[in-house]
Amino acid sequence: MARDYYEVLGVPRNASQEDIKRAYRQLARKYHPDVSTEPDAEERFKEVNAAYEVLSDSEKRAMYDRFGTDVPNGFGGFDFGGAARDPFDIFAEVFGNLGGFGGFGGFGQTGRATGPQRGNDVRGSLDLTFEEAVFGVEKDVEVQRYEVCPVCNGTRAEPGTAVETCPECRGAGQVRHTQRTFLGSFVNIVTCPRCNGKGTVVTKPCHECNGNGRVYVRRKIKATIPAGVDDGVTIRLAGQGEPGERGGPPGNLYLTLNVKPHPFFKRHNNDIILEMQINVAQAALGDTVKVPTLDGDRQITIPAGTQSGAIFRLRGLGIPYLRSNGRGDQLVVVQVAIPTRLTSRQKELFQELAGTLGTETVVEDKMSFVDRVKEALGL
Ligand SMILES: [Zn+2]
Ligand SMILES: [Zn+2]
Repeated sequence: MARDYYEVLGVPRNASQEDIKRAYRQLARKYHPDVSTEPDAEERFKEVNAAYEVLSDSEKRAMYDRFGTDVPNGFGGFDFGGAARDPFDIFAEVFGNLGGFGGFGGFGQTGRATGPQRGNDVRGSLDLTFEEAVFGVEKDVEVQRYEVCPVCNGTRAEPGTAVETCPECRGAGQVRHTQRTFLGSFVNIVTCPRCNGKGTVVTKPCHECNGNGRVYVRRKIKATIPAGVDDGVTIRLAGQGEPGERGGPPGNLYLTLNVKPHPFFKRHNNDIILEMQINVAQAALGDTVKVPTLDGDRQITIPAGTQSGAIFRLRGLGIPYLRSNGRGDQLVVVQVAIPTRLTSRQKELFQELAGTLGTETVVEDKMSFVDRVKEALGL
């Protein structure tokens, strides 16, 4: 059951036509789906228009006051409850073909042929190296999109030929259809079929765009990729989509990023993980070793007695936080490599070492290598 129409417009039952119109104008502006931030704007917009459609017409209003939305049989021919007319047509009628609506910047995506329309969005993808994703980059992206025809400047007419006012709608872009019913006559305003709402017709169409006013082109666009983006992220380049119509703003370009994996750096959130092998002697005796980072080589000190799975943290050498300051860390996970091929001299030395270490074995109850790495990463 629909809400009471007076309640919808917030007017008393004895409201004057002026009150009703004023209430409607206020609410229609508030709930127009192109400008409203209310979550249920579209529903409310339809409701407001349905209420106005009835209450603004004295005959329909009288019927509504008497029967509500349940029109008895025999009074048919008009459906109060449903969407009898396109709410956008009612809106256009009251606001006079955008006359009172200019400040809102148009009708946008609802696609009304009567007002400015935002251009379509364009989508594409962009391949980045690991380093480009980490530090940001400026790249040329090739996109295909419609642009305003450079020959006719969007007028659709061959240069030098005339553009005439549409004879069907006399330039209004709309035509009125009057429909007579038992309840009175209703005026429907529809987009002019001759000129498609443009208000003009060309005598000779532009040869470049075949009278479309726009052409499909490949275009190189400079895309600025911020530091810290990740694989699969989509970035928006505002205004780089297709041009708007009838003075509407252009659409946006959306680029989905494909980041190539690095041969040895792995990403975990904003940290970089590097696995590195050291030999038995380095692990047992300690050493200073060179470690590659995104910022060039760094030295780390491996203390004597380092175990497989030990993690060394290089602060601030990870991935920059997207759109904020600071960077993650680089974690160097050390693995002790056991030699598989020994020279005879090395074999002698290991045998000598073995004699000093004995034959005792110990059951491992400490954290495993994998557990240690997981703990360090907070997994
Ligand atoms: Zn053209
Ligand atoms: Zn026309």
